[in-house]
Amino acid sequence: MSHRIYNFSAGPAILPEPVLDEAAQGVREINGSGMSLLEVSHRGKDYEAIHADAEQRLLRVMGLSGEEYYPLFLQGGASLQFAMVPMNFLTPEQTADYVVSGDWGAKALKEAQLFGGAREAATSKGEGYSELPKEFTRTPGARYVHITTNNTIEGTEYFALPDVGETPLVADASSDFLALQRDYGKFSLLYAGAQKNAGPAGVTMALLRKSFLETANPKVAKILSYRTYAENRSLYNTPPTFAIYVVGLVLKWLEGEGGLEAIEARNRQKAKVLYDALDEHAPFYQPTVTDKGDRSLMNVTWRLHDPALEGELLAEAKKNGMDGLKGHRSVGGFRASIYNAFPVKGVQALADLLRDFAQRKG
Ligand SMILES: *Cc1c(COP(=O)(O)O)cnc(C)c1O
Repeated sequence: MSHRIYNFSAGPAILPEPVLDEAAQGVREINGSGMSLLEVSHRGKDYEAIHADAEQRLLRVMGLSGEEYYPLFLQGGASLQFAMVPMNFLTPEQTADYVVSGDWGAKALKEAQLFGGAREAATSKGEGYSELPKEFTRTPGARYVHITTNNTIEGTEYFALPDVGETPLVADASSDFLALQRDYGKFSLLYAGAQKNAGPAGVTMALLRKSFLETANPKVAKILSYRTYAENRSLYNTPPTFAIYVVGLVLKWLEGEGGLEAIEARNRQKAKVLYDALDEHAPFYQPTVTDKGDRSLMNVTWRLHDPALEGELLAEAKKNGMDGLKGHRSVGGFRASIYNAFPVKGVQALADLLRDFAQRKG
């Protein structure tokens, strides 16, 4: 590719170049079929092979067994999951515990309250979500506990999962999906929109524990029922074939890079390069996450001690081939999203600029 810039966008976000090349080829023609991937039937053998391959790779990369989990491809983004989870797993007589560690978790809770007894079990809203909630009150017999593994907007991430006892753990993992090793067998349901770290917009992956699905509500609109997706291998209606194809390519790329263990090591190294540069120049730079143990590997957020310099820093970044660094409007400041595909070199370039800028202006 000719002039690729360093794209720090939070999502849709950077994808691996080999994936873009192969996807471009697939858009021209798939498997010598004389047809573009965009033109083939979702019931035909070319697409079926792609679909099955993506399902298997997803389970394999996550270290989960197809005996225990359904790998699902859904639509409507993570936002639809905010509604589908309680539709399928909550009733007005039941209680679900929501840990609200950021704006996305707050939205998930609001949706759940339309369907059942969802309560805020913990929140760090009072701290402006600058850390993960440290206290968590569990409801005995709760239907499930819902967390957000990585707070895309606020820049916090769970490394140790909260202790939920026997209660099923449900998580929105949109912005750190495929980014690090976890004991994924701890989740009863894990979902993620693809467009942050795993593919293009248009598909949402879910890993659903089979025994949890058995407890799902019986009366749910067919297209919004996890059972429909599980029983039909996400092929009840036309799935987002192109998005699933690209997710499959990303998974193949990830396996080639050494899987979650290798990518986590690289992600940790990349994040450290940035946090080190910011910490070296405190208080000129002020990371927005107050507890260092909660700092996200994916979304690095900070402000300037002197906000009047923000425009200048953004302009210098742009001049140096970096884009997408403006913080979310609700937080302000800066956000560098450095997902799996983001190159080490680009992180280094930003760290160099941050040091240089602080020396000149600090
Ligand atoms: C982006 C994001 C969402 C919203 O995803 P959509 O696919 O736009 O619905 C939800 N949760 C988290 C953690 C996100 O990063």
